[in-house]
Amino acid sequence: MGSTSRKEPPLPTVVPLLDVNRGYIPLRDELLSAITRVCDSGQFVLGPEVQELEQNVARFCGVEHAIACASGSDALLLALMAHGVGRGDQVVVPSFTFFATASAAWRLGATPVFVDIDPETMNLSPAAVEAAIAPSTKTIIPVHLFGQCAEMAPILETARWHGIAVIEDAAQAIGAQYRGQSAGAIGDIGCLSFYPTKNLGGFGDGGMLTTRSAELASRLNLLRGHGMRPRYFHREVGINSRLDSVQAAALNVKLRYLNAWTQQRQANARRYRELFLAAKLDGELSIPAEAPDRRHVWNQFTIRVPNGARNRLREHLAQAGVGSEIYYPLPLHLQDCFRGLGYREGSLPETERAAAEVLSLPIFPELTPQEQEAVVTAVARFYGRKFKGKAA
Ligand SMILES: *Cc1c(COP(=O)(O)O)cnc(C)c1O
Repeated sequence: MGSTSRKEPPLPTVVPLLDVNRGYIPLRDELLSAITRVCDSGQFVLGPEVQELEQNVARFCGVEHAIACASGSDALLLALMAHGVGRGDQVVVPSFTFFATASAAWRLGATPVFVDIDPETMNLSPAAVEAAIAPSTKTIIPVHLFGQCAEMAPILETARWHGIAVIEDAAQAIGAQYRGQSAGAIGDIGCLSFYPTKNLGGFGDGGMLTTRSAELASRLNLLRGHGMRPRYFHREVGINSRLDSVQAAALNVKLRYLNAWTQQRQANARRYRELFLAAKLDGELSIPAEAPDRRHVWNQFTIRVPNGARNRLREHLAQAGVGSEIYYPLPLHLQDCFRGLGYREGSLPETERAAAEVLSLPIFPELTPQEQEAVVTAVARFYGRKFKGKAA
């Protein structure tokens, strides 16, 4: 291998976890003129661009209604409010997720009930959901973690049997599908986030609720605007959670590119798989896979590094100039703020094992094959493998 005559291009030295500028630069003029139109119009909050985005996202997800709000976290809060969740209610959630999934329930005085995950997909275990249902369970929030839908069919069946609502946390999963149905169109309400690191990211915060129910759509609309209808008359206490027109204008432009970006993420995931197999690293760590009945949109490419090696690998990658992140290092059931709920270490073994093993690698659409080769070469080096960064 050392005496190849052909000269290989040098491997790039720095591979960022995410580089939002690479998506922005080619669209810069288009985005800035859309934003300029908003600035010139004088309509800055819930203006025509927001209505346009609501229609575009509803069509994209295959639902009748989409209601914009200020963030994915607010979307979760509003979805629970629309279902009347409050004190004394239980909300079944994964512990292996971003904080907002559980804090929405907590803020309404309800109790998050944390359940374990399926180790393959790291999404909610349907059997664990079924076992957690109690008379006071009001909703289940499956999270489509890392861009792959949770196993929705048995979860929906459990919910229907017990007459409880299902709210999808689709913050990481816009465009993902489960048996042909889009994330956000499967449960009663879907919650999307436009935080800049998501697959459809704005220039700040933003969120969206999706639903097929006209009645829920009307409630969500009321609740995001202080429960006010008509103007200055309040039927109930809502919150202020509106989307800026500037965000909506940018998101309308970017939504046109989302399918192409998703295909690039999927191609990157396939290339990683080939590279990891070519480097014979599949025995050392586990490579994420797409379940057969799902369309994975790869918000994250998250490997699992067993045997306590994860943190050392992460440090090694940092030394090699490769960005990575741990989503999420401490499960929610072990967070200080939820200590009063009585969970202990060992309460949710699969969740705790995942938190100790996961490592997310760069997967953004514009990542180059050379950069992916550099990432896998750096991982191979950590395990003392010779690998020249080429797929077989
Ligand atoms: C990002 C995210 C949220 C919250 O979205 P924000 O727009 O940041 O408030 C909720 N749940 C999950 C799983 C997320 O990844």
